[in-house]
Amino acid sequence: MQNTQRMKHITVIGAGTMGNGIAHVFAMNEYQVVLCDISQDALDKALATITKNLDRMLAKEKISEDQKSATIANISTDTSVENSVKNADLVVEAATENVDLKLSIFKDMDEYAPTKAILATNTSSISITKIAGVTSRPDKVIGMHFMNPVPVMKLVEVIRGYSTSDEVTKQIMEVSSSLNKVPVEVNDYPGFVANRILMPMINEAIYSLYEGVAGVEQIDTVMMLGMSHPMGPLFLADFIGLDVCMSILNVLYDGFGNPKYAPCPLLVNMVNAGKKGVKTGEGFYNYANGLREKTVSTQFT
Ligand code: NAD
Repeated sequence: MQNTQRMKHITVIGAGTMGNGIAHVFAMNEYQVVLCDISQDALDKALATITKNLDRMLAKEKISEDQKSATIANISTDTSVENSVKNADLVVEAATENVDLKLSIFKDMDEYAPTKAILATNTSSISITKIAGVTSRPDKVIGMHFMNPVPVMKLVEVIRGYSTSDEVTKQIMEVSSSLNKVPVEVNDYPGFVANRILMPMINEAIYSLYEGVAGVEQIDTVMMLGMSHPMGPLFLADFIGLDVCMSILNVLYDGFGNPKYAPCPLLVNMVNAGKKGVKTGEGFYNYANGLREKTVSTQFT
């Protein structure tokens, strides 16, 4: 049986925000990483981001020049899923959050990866059991939910699908620990644990704004100073992406059939208007000048 000691070859599918961070932490911990994306531009940007983040760690004396070079040397890139998974012990999929896309990628991963390989997904909200259902190895499909930014955040939410085996869960818990992360095992229900608790809180903060209970800064300040949260829920929503928040709330709403999860109409309006947070330069705050300024107000503020 495969064990963590022998797990050496990791393929990361998707080289965006999460994929480059996941490749970074595996490579820094001496795994051989193939980073795969359909976009060569995304791969080039990912390597530039990894180098920039390693330089920052070097400047803070968290790593040596040798560790930086070794980390970069441990990463190769590919634009073909078929090629990139053929020697993998573990594939971590971190492509765009779209159910049809993920099902199609998992069919390919299942077809081309060795039969012993574990297939993990970094999805924020899509059912692990549903993804596993399109493969011939549902016992080897699991959620490995890293947090953003991956090199900094300690948590990995390890999500067992309905058919995930004990052995595979144990291996993924061990692999996560080998990355100096803290893995937490949870079961596969909508939103898992992190987003099931976080997203209703963000939605409630947006409702508080929508109903004029308080303004953006007041809401965020109450939660930061009153609850010791490092950032307020509205700023956090901007950072995550308002479209991402809306789609996770819709997964919770559909999955539980409970109206308490329905996204606030203000959130829906902002997403439809293209105000998606930091990545579009505007959400609850304005980021156009790199500054954080309040952009949404209510009649009461
Ligand atoms: P992103 O949009 O930054 O990157 C996605 C990448 O996937 C893009 O570079 C795209 O070119 C690539 N891609 C699309 N189709 C592909 C294919 N067929 N084969 C290979 N690559 C393909 O997205 P992200 O924010 O990095 O999110 C990735 C995953 O991580 C999603 O499932 C998301 O829910 C999850 N996640 C995101 C965050 C976050 O804060 N951004 C946090 C936790 C989990």
